[in-house]
Amino acid sequence: MMDLETSGRLDPEIVWRYFRRIASIAHPSGHEDKLRDFLAGEGVKLGLLPETDPAGNLLLKPAKVPLRMLFQAHMDMVPQKRADVTFDFLHDPISLVRDGEWVSSGGRTTIGGDDGIGIALAMSLFAEGAAPAGAGMLFTVEEETGLTGAGNLNVDFLRGVEQLINLDSCDPDAIVIGCAGGCHIDAKRSMRYTTPAADAIAFHLAIGGLKGGHSGEDIADCRGNSIRILADFLKKYDQAAIASFSGGTLDNVIPASAEAVCVVKNDAVFAEIAADASHRNGANFHGAENFFFRVQRLTALPEKVWSSDCRAEVLNALCLCPNEVLEFSEEFQMPVLSNNLAAVREENQWLHVSMLARGNEDRKKTQLSEEILRLFRADGFSAEIASSYPGWTPKSESPLIETARQIYRELRGKTLELQVIHAGLECGFFAGMAPQMAILSAGPRMENLHTPEERIQIASVETFYQFLKELCRVL
Ligand SMILES: [Zn+2]
Repeated sequence: MMDLETSGRLDPEIVWRYFRRIASIAHPSGHEDKLRDFLAGEGVKLGLLPETDPAGNLLLKPAKVPLRMLFQAHMDMVPQKRADVTFDFLHDPISLVRDGEWVSSGGRTTIGGDDGIGIALAMSLFAEGAAPAGAGMLFTVEEETGLTGAGNLNVDFLRGVEQLINLDSCDPDAIVIGCAGGCHIDAKRSMRYTTPAADAIAFHLAIGGLKGGHSGEDIADCRGNSIRILADFLKKYDQAAIASFSGGTLDNVIPASAEAVCVVKNDAVFAEIAADASHRNGANFHGAENFFFRVQRLTALPEKVWSSDCRAEVLNALCLCPNEVLEFSEEFQMPVLSNNLAAVREENQWLHVSMLARGNEDRKKTQLSEEILRLFRADGFSAEIASSYPGWTPKSESPLIETARQIYRELRGKTLELQVIHAGLECGFFAGMAPQMAILSAGPRMENLHTPEERIQIASVETFYQFLKELCRVL
C-alpha cells in the first residue's frame, strides 16, 4: 500500500486531483458547508453561477445560456471507521492510499468515494470544457441520512432541465433507470407489567451472528431477521414471561441480533426451552456460519415482566407483520416489495418498533404501509409513517438511455446493462418534481460502501470518465 500523494500518477489526473481535494475537506452528513463553499468557489472559477437553496443544496448553472441538463451527486459521506482507529470526521482529512488497482484508506475509514468521486467526475467535465452547452451541476446534502436534501430541493433548480445524470451508482457496466421508494414506519405502545413470583427462574436469550446487511440490496438473500426469529421462538412458549426484548439498529439494516430476558415458573419449563434453544444454537442458519442462539440462566430475578395481554399483543404484531421479500419481479430478477422489521427497543415503559417498507411501485408501497399500520394498531400500538420517499419508475425507452447504450457499445463492444434497484436513490424525488426529465444513474466501480473497507477501482474511473465525455459530445 502506498500513500496516494507518492504513489505516482493516477489517470485521469484531473478527476483524482478533485477527489483528493474533496477527501481533504471534512464532509459527513449534516456538515457539508465546507465542501459546498469549496465547490461554489471552483464553480465560479469555471464560469458557473452558484446558487444555494434553504436545504443547503448547491446548484452551479451556466451564466450565459439556459440550464437544460444536470450532472448530479451528493456532497455528504457516511462516517465509518475501524473500531481501533482514532479519527475525527468533522475535522480530519481522509488519508488515501493506493492498494494495487484500488484507492482506499487501507481499511481505516470510509473515503467518501460515495459520492465524492461523482462530484470529482462532474467538476472535471467542466474544468476540461467537455460538458455540453446548457449543462450545470447539482450537489445535494444529507443523502445518506434519508435523502433529505433531494426531498427539500428548491424545485426551481430543475426548471427547464431535460436530462439529469446522477453519479451515485457503482457499476460501470450498468446504468440504473429505476429504484424503490421507502416508508419509515414507527409503532409504539405503552406497556403494562406484573411482578414475577419470588421462586421463578430468569434467563437471558440471545440470537446473533446473522449476516444482517442492507435492507434494500440484501433483503432477497434470506439472511434471517433476528427480531422475527426471537419473537417466533417466544410465541411458542406461553409459559415464558418476558421482562425485556430488544434487537436491531437502523431502519435500513437487516437486524442481525436480538435478545430477551424471560422468566418461567420452574426448572422443567426452563429445561424444555433451553433444550430447544441450544438445539438451534450453532445451526448454520442460511449461510450465517456464526449464527448462535444462546440461553443463560440468570441469578437475579427481574423486578417486573410484561403483562400477559401485552406479551400476546406484542408478539402477535412482531410475528405477523409482513417481513422480508413480499413480491419478486421475474423480469428484473429482484424484489419489488419488502419490509424490514428493523428494530425493537423499550424505554420508559414504552415499546418502540421501527420498520422500513420498500416498493418499486408507490401504490403498492402505500398499500403495504397501511396494512402494517393497521396490524400494529390492532395490537394496541399507535403506529405512524415517520417519513417516506418516492420510488423512481423506470422508463426504458428514453432517448438518453438509448444514447448511453449506443456509446457504451461503441466504446466497450458489449451491451450496457439496465438495472432497477430495490434501494433508494435521490432520482425518485427528482422524477416526482420534474416528470418530463430523462434521468439515469451511473458511476465507476466502488465496493464496500459505508464501511472502512470502501474502495474505488482506479481503472474504472478512467473508463467511466471516457464514457461520460463521449456522452457529453452527443448530448
Ligand atoms: Zn451515495
